[in-house]
Amino acid sequence: MAVEPSPVKSRIRKGDTVVILSGKERGKQGKVLQVMPSLSKVVVEKLNLIKRHTRPSKLNKGGIIEKEGRLALSKVMVVCPHCAKPSRLTVAVLEGGRRLRRCKRCDEIVDKG
Ligand SMILES: [Zn+2]
Repeated sequence: MAVEPSPVKSRIRKGDTVVILSGKERGKQGKVLQVMPSLSKVVVEKLNLIKRHTRPSKLNKGGIIEKEGRLALSKVMVVCPHCAKPSRLTVAVLEGGRRLRRCKRCDEIVDKG
C-alpha cells in the first residue's frame, strides 16, 4: 500500500461527524459544515463558536452573533459511524476503481453508496 506523503492531507469531508482532540472543547462531536484544505481548517457545526459583534444593518439588528470558527484539521478526527470511535481512515479501492474511505479500526466502509 502507498504511504501518504503529506501528514496534513486529510480524509475529512463535509458531512462527516468529527470529534475535537484538544482544547477546551476536547471530546465534543459535531458535523463538518465546511472543509478548507488549503488552510488545513474545518468548520464544525455548533463547535468552536466565536462571538461576532455586528453593527445594525438592513439585514440584521446588530449585536452579538455566535458563529462557528475554524478548527485546525489536526485537532479533529473522524468518528466512524460503525464503531463510533475516532478513527483513522484509509482509502479502499474497489473493483471498477471506486475509492471509498474505510475505518482502520473496524475495517468497515465509511462512505455510503
Ligand atoms: Zn470503525
